[in-house]
Amino acid sequence: MNWREQREQMVKHQLVLRGIKDQRVLEAMRKVPRHFFVPEKLSESAYHDGPLSIGEGQTISQPYMVALMTECLGLKGGEKVLEIGTGSGYQTAVLAELAEHIYTIERIPILLKKAQQVLTRLGYTTITFKGGDGTCGWEEESPFDGIIVTAGAPDISPVLVEQLDEGGVLVIPVGTRFSQSLFKVTKKGDRIEKENYTLCVFVPLIGMHGWKEN
Ligand code: SAM
Repeated sequence: MNWREQREQMVKHQLVLRGIKDQRVLEAMRKVPRHFFVPEKLSESAYHDGPLSIGEGQTISQPYMVALMTECLGLKGGEKVLEIGTGSGYQTAVLAELAEHIYTIERIPILLKKAQQVLTRLGYTTITFKGGDGTCGWEEESPFDGIIVTAGAPDISPVLVEQLDEGGVLVIPVGTRFSQSLFKVTKKGDRIEKENYTLCVFVPLIGMHGWKEN
């Protein structure tokens, strides 16, 4: 099977059959070449139904988790989105297909550099990158229509909720260092509405408003 056929199979069996309905999300997942975002020796496994190692003890998330988190953001096309945890840059590319501008933060410099290189090579021009601790958000660029945290957090950080626009959505895995629940948090005035989507397992979010390094 060529890469395009593998993506088609991935969308059909891993996403549509599990209930992903947003046609724009499905189209973005059909388009983005996931095999460019995994280490070369793993490219044959790029469209498998699970996360893969990207080095530095980190992972590219399972395709279904990328689709579900993206669907939760409810993107229509004009949004400004903050991503915390660039990792391989795959989720960043999917977001860039669907929103107006993506701000992405990664704490591990080598991962940030690789992600930036592949996203530039693929022609993405609507992404702004930053190295460092994303748990503080990106205040100068706030407010955001959406914030997506791609690592497991100890709680729903008020610092991030503060950087959401009214009606904005924060998608975040919350729990222990080892397992979490995926939450969609919508900002409504000075309160938040929380929806719990699924159990999940992410690498820990390390930083000032996250977990300690070890
Ligand atoms: N969505 C990514 C992808 O498609 O490859 C997967 C990201 S991986 C599961 C989580 C990433 O979050 C790791 O690269 C990790 O280094 C990063 N991370 C953890 N804590 C962070 C923080 N405080 N700020 C920025 N990035 C962080």
